[in-house]
Amino acid sequence: MSVSNFEGFLKSFKPHPLVDSSISPSDFIHINLSLHNFNLSAVDISSSNELQQFIWKYIAIHQAKVAYGGYLEQRGIYRRSTYFNRTNHETERNIHLGLDLWSEANTPIFAPLNGTIHSFKNNTNHGGYGPTIILKHDINDVVFYTLYGHLSLESLWQLEVGVEVKQGEQIATLGTAEVNGDYPPHLHFQIIRDIQNYKGDYPGVCSKQGIEFYKQNCPDPNLLLKI
Ligand SMILES: [Zn+2]
Repeated sequence: MSVSNFEGFLKSFKPHPLVDSSISPSDFIHINLSLHNFNLSAVDISSSNELQQFIWKYIAIHQAKVAYGGYLEQRGIYRRSTYFNRTNHETERNIHLGLDLWSEANTPIFAPLNGTIHSFKNNTNHGGYGPTIILKHDINDVVFYTLYGHLSLESLWQLEVGVEVKQGEQIATLGTAEVNGDYPPHLHFQIIRDIQNYKGDYPGVCSKQGIEFYKQNCPDPNLLLKI
């Protein structure tokens, strides 16, 4: 299936909302966390606490409940982690490939579509995902994957690879900064077409060099979510 056909395929779904379906669409507010956001320049983004204050204030000012965004956003936050850091601008990984939903810890997360548990893992590196679940979807003979990062530790308890997950079923809750790679609580949601041999983890950030490949392999999550 071509890239544009796959994008059309994603658009055709009516997914279950990832967070509580009682939160109305007007309670979502887009947030810009890119290097180019002037309002972020006064924030010490290496501190999950300071970034959290910034995000929560932003949500409060807009009388919203959840802030979202970040697909292909070029971000400064990854510079604090050696895991992402490269001295070369072409290979520094700072372009975000998922869509983030910023909300409180313990917020329940629901499966947007039917699927099965592909894999799960606690990615404990600083700035990594922490507890992560990947679902496999096989719909109308099209196979693709969705990744849920920065979850609570409890989200991984009693999971089993291959087990079926129904659309709208609760699959996880959001983790705190202590377990989620040291970020303010949020869900990293990413669509992956070819997952290669990855299990419980997949790059959520890429370099300028990698962008052409990753843009095709990880299309805009909002084609599916329609927030
Ligand atoms: Zn993210």
